[in-house]
This record gives sequence, C-alpha cells and structure tokens, in this order.
Amino acid sequence: MTYDVAIVGYGPVGQALAILLAQRGWRVGVFEKQPQAYPLPRAVHFDHEVGRILQACGVADRIRGRTEPTDSYEWRNAAGATLLRFESGPAGLSGWPDGNMFAQPDLEAILDARARSLPGVDVARGVEVVDLVEERDGVRLTCAAADGTRRDVQARFVVGCDGANSFVRAKVGSTVTDLGFFFDWLIVDVLPNTPTVWQPLNIQVCDPARPTTLVSGGPGRRRWEFMRLPGEDVDELNREETAWRLLAASGVTPENARLERHTVYRFQARWVDQWRKGRVLLAGDAAHQMPPFAGQGMCSGLRDAANLAWKLDLVLRDAAPAALLDTYESERVPHVRAVIDFSMALGKVICIADPVEAAGRDAMMTAALASGQQATPPPSPTIGPGVLRDGDPHAGKLFPQGRVRTADGREGWFDDVVGGGWTLLGRDGDPFATLDRDTMSRLRELGVVAAHVGSEAPVVDLDGTYARWFAATGAAVALQRPDFYVFGTEARSVDTPRLADALRRALSPA
Ligand SMILES: Cc1cc2nc3c(=O)[nH]c(=O)nc-3n(C[C@H](O)[C@H](O)[C@H](O)COP(=O)(O)OP(=O)(O)OC[C@H]3O[C@@H](n4cnc5c(N)ncnc54)[C@H](O)[C@@H]3O)c2cc1C
Repeated sequence: MTYDVAIVGYGPVGQALAILLAQRGWRVGVFEKQPQAYPLPRAVHFDHEVGRILQACGVADRIRGRTEPTDSYEWRNAAGATLLRFESGPAGLSGWPDGNMFAQPDLEAILDARARSLPGVDVARGVEVVDLVEERDGVRLTCAAADGTRRDVQARFVVGCDGANSFVRAKVGSTVTDLGFFFDWLIVDVLPNTPTVWQPLNIQVCDPARPTTLVSGGPGRRRWEFMRLPGEDVDELNREETAWRLLAASGVTPENARLERHTVYRFQARWVDQWRKGRVLLAGDAAHQMPPFAGQGMCSGLRDAANLAWKLDLVLRDAAPAALLDTYESERVPHVRAVIDFSMALGKVICIADPVEAAGRDAMMTAALASGQQATPPPSPTIGPGVLRDGDPHAGKLFPQGRVRTADGREGWFDDVVGGGWTLLGRDGDPFATLDRDTMSRLRELGVVAAHVGSEAPVVDLDGTYARWFAATGAAVALQRPDFYVFGTEARSVDTPRLADALRRALSPA
C-alpha cells in the first residue's frame, strides 16, 4: 500500500493532521502502537486559536459540548490573598473563548470518530513503526503488529507525531535543544460525586509549602496538581494515600469524590533542532515539550498540524516545491520558543519552595496588583520567517474570525459560512475585481476565496470584527493563510495585484 502521507502516532496531533490532510483529498495511513486510546486525562486547556483549528477539523459542535470556558485564572499566596488574576473572555480573537477546559480523552474520541469518517484515512492501532528508510520517491516504513508479524508500507511523506519519546525523531537523528528546566508534579484527576461550581474556575496556590494548581478538567471533572518538594521521594508522592491526604485540604475525600487517577509527571522545556529531514517531518510532542503552566503543549502540536497540512497539500499536488516544507521549521520554532519561554516564566513564579523567596515574590506581586497593574497574557506570538509577505508589519500574526451573514442569507462563523482556507478579504470591494484573469485563476487553483466584508457588504460583518481589524491595521485588503495567520496586507485595494504577486514568489522558495 502506498500512502500520500504516513503518520506515526495517533495522539491528538496525529489525529488532527490526518483529518486536515484527508479533508484535502489525500490518502493517509496512521500507525499507533497502543491498541486502545490512552484513557486518562492529560491536557485540560486549549485556547481560541486551537478552537478554530478544531473547527477546521469539522468537530466544532461536538467539542463545544464537551468544554467549559475559562472565566479567570487566579493566583493566590499561602494565606489566600490574590497575587494575580488573568481574565479570560468568552470570545477570543479566533471566535472561540480565550480558554476552554476539556478532557483530552473526550477530544481524542471526537477526533477519532471524525478521522474514521473520512474515506482517505486508514487507522492501524496496535501497530508499532519499528523502522523507516527514505527512498528515492518516498519512505518505506516497517510496521510490527502485536503478534510479531511485520509488513512494509510506502508513503510519499512521513510525519512523526509519536510523542515525547519519538521513535521517528531518534531514527532520523534530529538533535534536541533542552533548557534543563524541569519539575516533577503529582497530577490528580477527581470526579466529584455531586456537580460542584468552582469559583474562580482555575486557581494557582503559590504556597512554598506546596505549590498547587486547581483547575477544571472539563465539565464534571476537577484537576489538582501538587509540586514535588525538594528532597521529596517520587514514589512516596505517587501513592494514592498521598493524593487523598493532599486533597483533604480542599475538602475532597473518598466520601464525596472518586479519584480517577494520580501520577507524577516530569515537565521539561525542549524542542528539536531539525523539524524536517527530507521526506520525514516531526510534529507535536515529538518536536517540542513544555511545562504545562500555560496549557500549551497540545495547542502547540495542533498549530504544527495546521501549519504542515496546507504545505504538504501544496507540495503533494506539485503547486510548490518540497523546499516549502523548510518553512514549517522556520515559522514554528520562534512561535514555540515564545510559548515555552512564557510557560517557563510562569513556572519560575509558581514553583518557588523557599519561604523567603516566596515572601519577596508575594510582596512584589501584591504591590503590583494594588497599583492597578493588570495581568494580561502575552498576545499570540508571531510566526517566524516563511510564507509571509516580506516587510509587512501584519504578516505572521493571527487573523481574527467573526460572525458573518452572506448574500444568500447564511449566518454563522466566517470559516463555516465563507470558508476557512486561503482567504482574500477586502474592506472596500471584492478583491478579485482588481486582479487580471491569469492572476485570479492562479489564486483560484490554489484555493483562494475572495470576500468583500463590511457592514453593508455582500459578507456582512455582524459584530464589527473585521471593521475593527481593518481600522487597527490600516489595511484595506488582507490575505489569510489556511492556518489563520496573515500572509500580507495592502493599504489600498488597487494594490491587491502586488499581494498576489508576493504570494506567487513566496510559494516558490529556492
Ligand atoms: C499532566 C499534563 C497536563 C497537560 N496539560 C495540557 C494543557 O492543559 N494544554 C495543552 O495544550 N497541553 C497539555 N499537556 C500536553 C499534551 O497532553 C501533549 O502535548 C499532547 O498529548 C501531545 O500530543 P501528541 O499527539 O503530540 O503526542 P501523544 O499524545 O503523546 O501521542 C503520541 C502517540 O504516538 C504513539 N507512538 C509512539 N511511538 C510509536 C511508534 N513507534 N509507532 C506507532 N505509534 C507510536 C504513542 O503510543 C502515542 O499514542 C499536558 C500534558 C500533561 C502530561
């Protein structure tokens, strides 16, 4: 069997990538060594951008019913005084809540059903990839079933989505940059016997005697995370009795709750130095890992999938050279570095176990709060150099999604109603009207959709989302990529042909 793309690993990143490729018509083989899905929660938070990626995967309605939006994330000291409060809005830039709390097994089940519903996807569970060799026109994978039988599979490209201990990463010899920042935490997932309202939803207890996180684990579920103290024995921390003892401080006991699981994880901060070696690429935890304090590990992996899917699509259909795939690394590394740095910055404040140091931190943060300083999470990072218009100040930034109504009366989120791929949006008119026939047909072949958006335009900007964006940037035209980043803009509609020409050049890297 020859696949267009073989994916090693069927965690959320492999699942999303399989869906995004199969939706574009490619034949995808997925190989997962575990016979069953990993049943226990890991990720509990995704952001607005990832909500939009899941929308692109066709699972928006199903996942919305399995999440609860974050209202705020409050940090308190040992005495319970507020040190910091991150507010989260119900509608972030991408049209989804800024923060969404969920259980990873729920998401994986939803993505699995979606992937299996697509005719182009073959999922092989209980099959471990034990070898891969790059050949002239593709890659040969050796797959081992649980009964020891082996078979070879061919693919034009392979993506290793095989997690933190990635076989693919080791096989192709990608080196790893490790910042040496690690802490051990006991993760405890609890199902309260009766529905409980937690206010605020997410809390960080900055108590040097035991830094502790209390967050939603999705509807009906609660997570506690307890930091291992210096000198504390991991095995002792990882006992069920220890979990109950630590939960008792929050009034959680075997009489009012069920312990779903407890386990000690070591969180690290590292990423691979080569994201592509020929026809083999790495994505998700195989490419990067980070401490979970910003809830961004899986989110970063889903951004990888969104970035890679449209590039593989262009290369597979000969609309761009294979060198385009090098922009996957150049674009994703600065973004993932910024997210790792932010996660570590949070960790450095949270993981203080020294009482004197903690008192200094508390005094500083309390003073900042009293002086009215607002805690705002950093804006979504910009992606690095790649398929972006040179010198454009808006290129590489995330583009918003708003609610719209089309001329034929359809109303909803832009991606559902108009389309979520390459999109040329015009403030003053139809951007295609400024292009010659050849340019227009070239853009159409790429899948670019044009839309005139405004309060009285054919695509009605129902909440003023696009009006605000055009006003803030001074742009009259914007070209959005299929992963929702801005390729480039023009301040005047008549200059749209220059934008189209810049895209043609950007898609033909040497
Ligand atoms: C306690 C905890 C809390 C977290 N909280 C968050 C959060 O709130 N938000 C967030 O965004 N992220 C969070 N994360 C991170 C998130 O869980 C991971 O980033 C995410 O699971 C990575 O997905 P993945 O698909 O890349 O890898 P994985 O989910 O690890 O999947 C990799 C798959 O590859 C398979 N595999 C490995 N080798 C082979 C092989 N040779 N052949 C075939 N299959 C193979 C494995 O069996 C596995 O199923 C958290 C993680 C932990 C541990």
